[in-house]
Amino acid sequence: MSDYTKILLEENEIPTQWYNVVPDLPEPPPPQLHPGTLQPATAEDFAALFPRALIEQEMSVERYIDIPGEVLDVYRLWRPSPLFRARRLEKLLDTPAKIFYKYEGVSPAGSHKPNTAVPQVFYNAQEGITKLTTETGAGQWGSSLAFACAQFGLECEIWQVAASYRAKPYRRTMMEIWGGKVHPSPSEVTEYGRSLLAKDPDHPGSLGIAISEAVGEAVASENTRYALGSVLNHVLLHQTVIGEEALLQLAKVGETPDVLVGCTGGGSNFGGLAFPFLREKLAGRMNPVIRCVEPTACPTLTKGQFRYDFGDTAGLTPLMKMHTLGHSFIPEPIHAGGLRYHGMAPLVSHVYQLGLVEAIAIPQTECFAGAVQFARCEGIVPAPEPTHAIAAAIREALACRESGEEKTILTALCGHGHLDLASYDQYLRGEMVDLELSDEAIAAAMAEVPVLA
Ligand SMILES: *Cc1c(COP(=O)(O)O)cnc(C)c1O
Repeated sequence: MSDYTKILLEENEIPTQWYNVVPDLPEPPPPQLHPGTLQPATAEDFAALFPRALIEQEMSVERYIDIPGEVLDVYRLWRPSPLFRARRLEKLLDTPAKIFYKYEGVSPAGSHKPNTAVPQVFYNAQEGITKLTTETGAGQWGSSLAFACAQFGLECEIWQVAASYRAKPYRRTMMEIWGGKVHPSPSEVTEYGRSLLAKDPDHPGSLGIAISEAVGEAVASENTRYALGSVLNHVLLHQTVIGEEALLQLAKVGETPDVLVGCTGGGSNFGGLAFPFLREKLAGRMNPVIRCVEPTACPTLTKGQFRYDFGDTAGLTPLMKMHTLGHSFIPEPIHAGGLRYHGMAPLVSHVYQLGLVEAIAIPQTECFAGAVQFARCEGIVPAPEPTHAIAAAIREALACRESGEEKTILTALCGHGHLDLASYDQYLRGEMVDLELSDEAIAAAMAEVPVLA
């Protein structure tokens, strides 16, 4: 096995269970709170939003949860996904390090998001739900959910952040091909959207606002529920197929990672890759350094506070204890749309708070420089979000060149960038700028975070 480039699994090696990290953590994560009573949220509090099966998974303390056969059948359209050894990049960087990347761009939507869209739609269909609402930024999640709804015959209504709706028409077309109905957010179809448009007809929107619109619409009708593409425990759970496959793939070539890096927007592709490795680390079977990478323009873990905050701008969701920049925070329009969220998955925040994972922030021009190097060696054009993971892997590999250490580096290339070429165009023309978030902007948004006793 000395000359492999990609490590493949057989179709019957797709994991048949998702892994829940909660029972293996040294301390349980803080509960989500009802926004009115401030008491721990109960299954009943979520009933208008999610089907029972997903609420159970959200609160589960079971270590392993079976993947339904119907979900595995859809997963087989693209899973198992390949694990690549970036030999050409290693050579370019002249590093003794080995760089591995798990590629999730092989899914129909071109990212890791269908890993959770498919089971979410399946459980809703099983409980008789006929329509799902959601928000999307650049369109990755909306297109994934529209694809999954098409598989199980559900309607799909999507609020897309207005700035992306106008700037990225091709993902909207993908959503429509799969049968989704797309509104720019803020929209004229909800009261909250109309109130924002009255103040600013050209409102650029934000993920938090789009979530408020989609949630509001779901709770108002009987057979409609809401779906979220990141942040929540059940989403990270579904994404663990990534890490479980990567463990099997690395075992085939006799490798264990010394460093694992992943990009964090809401935390789902990171948690999906990292949690099975964290299990191995906590059990003493390997000891990788595990590192989150975020944009300097939306530095949730590295500059946010670990506080109870809302998941959306209008304050409709339960309060979650997480690293947050404040639910009213509207990030600058950086290219990695999927990383522009004010909060972080409570589970990722918790393991960061416990010191089990590290975090760094990298400016976008360094990320695109790394991605262009990567594309020229490895061929694949990364989505803007995983350019952060690649830049972090390159930093690590260059440090190995200095120190002579032969580290094994693992990362997730969680999506391709074929619909993000305008960002690359701007980078290649030398027009991309780095945005540093000011302490004043953070303080202003943090002032609106609820203060709990
Ligand atoms: C949505 C998205 C992200 C950010 O979400 P996470 O939950 O942090 O994974 C990152 N990369 C891609 C390609 C995405 O589509």
